[in-house]
This record gives sequence, structure tokens and C-alpha cells, in this order.
Amino acid sequence: MKPIYQIIRKISFNEEIENDKVQLTPCNNGYIARNAGPFKGQVPIADYSSINREGYIYQQKVLYKLDYSNITYQLLVGDRCCPYSCSFCRISKNTESIKEASQVANEMIALHRQYGCRNFSLICNEMNPSRSYAAEFVDTLLSYDNHLNWFCYLRPNNLSADELLAIKKAGCVLIRFGVESGSQRILDSMNKKLYVSEIEQILADSHKAGIWNHINIMTGYLYESQDDINETISFLRKNRGYIDSIRVNPFFIPIGSPIHLNPQEFNIEIVEETSSHIVFHQRDISWEEKKKQISHATSQVLAECKRLGIGYAGILPNLVCTSLCHFGQKEQGKIWLRENHNYLWEPVSPDTAKWKLAHPENPSVEINPWEKIYGQRGENYQTRIDHEIHSNP
Ligand code: SF4
Repeated sequence: MKPIYQIIRKISFNEEIENDKVQLTPCNNGYIARNAGPFKGQVPIADYSSINREGYIYQQKVLYKLDYSNITYQLLVGDRCCPYSCSFCRISKNTESIKEASQVANEMIALHRQYGCRNFSLICNEMNPSRSYAAEFVDTLLSYDNHLNWFCYLRPNNLSADELLAIKKAGCVLIRFGVESGSQRILDSMNKKLYVSEIEQILADSHKAGIWNHINIMTGYLYESQDDINETISFLRKNRGYIDSIRVNPFFIPIGSPIHLNPQEFNIEIVEETSSHIVFHQRDISWEEKKKQISHATSQVLAECKRLGIGYAGILPNLVCTSLCHFGQKEQGKIWLRENHNYLWEPVSPDTAKWKLAHPENPSVEINPWEKIYGQRGENYQTRIDHEIHSNP
């Protein structure tokens, strides 16, 4: 609460902010509030002692249209801490610690013993910042004599067929992979430290293990060419049998990402920081042209996914997890999802898909439609303070 109080004092009385957690940056019509540096505290342990479990279960049954009486519990592993430095990632190295792998597994086990929690969403960037971290997590869960279900993000890197089988056996039902592109040139320029051939091996082995593979693809990255887009489309065609869902993310520059902090290194010029996005020029094209290129790339990838029948269900991972846990295997879960939530196979924007789940009675509404997120994430993405700062009265 203290940072919020200090922001209010700053806006009202122009008092200086005393702690090192909040930084206010002027922008058009106001200020942007953001973390000033890495969070150094302990990542809190999950506590579900006081939640209204019956209420959540009832709400889930109504929204999901599924008679299933377990809910997915969110478990914070350690947000915003990653040893990698992908160019577009604003969350790399924002915190200094994550929980030990065995601690995460033991928290799940303790929650199961105490409250009967069976399904978990692991909140972190990736559960395999290293091979040994993922192995310790899986081994701890495998040593428990009950089966728990979970989903998470994993880097599509350093995962053998045997490791993926063990991950599945330890309860994983859904993996979200930050694949980003089918073009090795683009992956290299993003500094992803990922390799297209290895990604293909991991998707195939994960599919064979019975895990739902969700991938994120970024469209319109810096200096992305038509050849790069074609390579992403070829990648989707080649691996369609192993990809269960996709999220298409039009490129934008996140605040605090390596691109934002070192634009020269990426051969761009930042011309304006607004409260909702960063305007830039590539060396070869202007901002307006770049937005058109992002739009063009996004439309091509979305059209191909539609043609290939690759849906977008992983945009709602809790829903997918619930259907997979209920049906016990992914093909049946997918059939049920298509029958009951078919909007997840339509190329609507991610926020529109979330609206359709929550408001089935009003399906024509669009939230942050594609044309509004080319080059930006959406209006609610950054913390914006639309106020003049007044002098101390
Ligand atoms: S995109 Fe993923 S792997 Fe890359 S820095 Fe961010 S969290 Fe780490």
C-alpha cells in the first residue's frame, strides 16, 4: 500500500517518492508508474485458507459449462526472474530470486494435504531456467504418492523425450512455450538462444507424451521480412500435428526491455513514449509503415492458423487445464472445447476471447481488437496516471 499512497501524495502535493520501488516517468498528459528496480524480498508462500472455494467452483461450472468440482490454484514461483535476456522481454531480471524447485513442489503437496488442492497454475516465466531446476521439481512431485495436475511456461530448449515423459508423469497437462518465430534469423536477433530444429523436436516429443502444446508467436518483430514470415508459416505447417493452440502477439516495445533501454543496439530510433506504447522508427521504415507491416504479418499468420485448424484455446489456460484434468487426455478435452467454446478457434484478439468466455450473452463486443494492438499492447497495459502534478498547496 505504501507505494500507492506515495504516488497519490506525489500527484496531489508533488511530494518526492521516498522508496526505491516506484519510479514515475512523465509522458503525454500524465505519468507512467513502474517498478524502479529488482524486487529483493521473499516470494510469498501460497495461502488458500480463506478463499470461498464453493463460490469459485460454482462460478467455474457456469462459465466453463463443465460439471467439474476442482479448481486451478495459482502458485507463485517467482515472477520476473530469468537468467536469459531476450530483446523484447521486460520481465527478465526484475526480481532477484525465485523459489527453490523442491519448495514449489512441496508447497503443492502441502496444499493438497491440507485443502485437497489438485490442480495448479505455476506463475513464473519458465519452470526450466536450468535443466536441473526442472528435474528437481519433477523428481519431488514424482516422490509424492498422489497425482497432482499443473501447467506452466517452459523454454523449448534442453528437453529430451525422456524428460518430457517424466514431466507428464509428474502431472503436467499443458505447456506454454515462448517460441516467437519459425525464422532462426529472427530468433537470433531476439537473443532467444533457441533453435528451430530443437523446438520441433520438443513439440513432437511433448505431443507424444500427451501434453497440450501451446505456443506464442510474435509477429512483426524488428526488421522482420516476408521471408521470415514465410518461415514461420512453414514452421506452423510442418508442426501443425504437434501444436494444440497458439497465441499471436503483434510486436510492441515493452518498457524496460533491452530494446527500450538500448535502441541503438537494435538499429531503431525511439521517437516518442506515450502512456500506452513506444513509437519508433526502423532504419528503413517509419512508425506508420511499421504498424502496417505488423498488421500484415499478423493477418498472414492468423489466416494460416485458421486454415490449418490450429486454435487459440491456450489464451485461456485455466479453461484448457480444467478440461484436460476433467477428461484425462487431451484429444477428448480438445473435442469438448471445440464443441463448447468454439470462439477459441476464431482469430479474435486475445482480450476479445477472454470477454467471450466471461460474457457469452454479449458476444459481439471486441476488446483491444487487433488493429489497436499493432505496435502496442492495449490501453490497460501500463500503469498510467492521467493527472497534472500540482504544486504543494
Ligand atoms: S522471454 Fe522468457 S526466456 Fe526470454 S528473458 Fe523473458 S522470461 Fe526469460
